[in-house]
Amino acid sequence: MIRYVCDLCRREIDPDRDIRYQVKIEVRAAFEPVNDDEPDDRDHLEEIQEILESLNQLGEEAFETAEKVLRFDLCAECRKKFLRDPLGRETSKILGFSKN
Ligand SMILES: [Zn+2]
Repeated sequence: MIRYVCDLCRREIDPDRDIRYQVKIEVRAAFEPVNDDEPDDRDHLEEIQEILESLNQLGEEAFETAEKVLRFDLCAECRKKFLRDPLGRETSKILGFSKN
């Protein structure tokens, strides 16, 4: 039998009694759409060359930041907490990250 644990409170989620909630967070770099209506007097080859060079410089890091999918299992209690504050803004205030 597969056992699930809430990723927030570490409580075991018993499928007979509890509902398991799945959270999927997708983080990806937002690229602006290319504007095709721009006047065509620029050197596109040179532009492409520049883009390729900057991509090479960024290398794997650029690829890494392109998209990230995080998956979590939550119990009903933590689902409520998560929906109230998905980015953990309240939590970081309570924990006092700004102290010291
Ligand atoms: Zn929980």
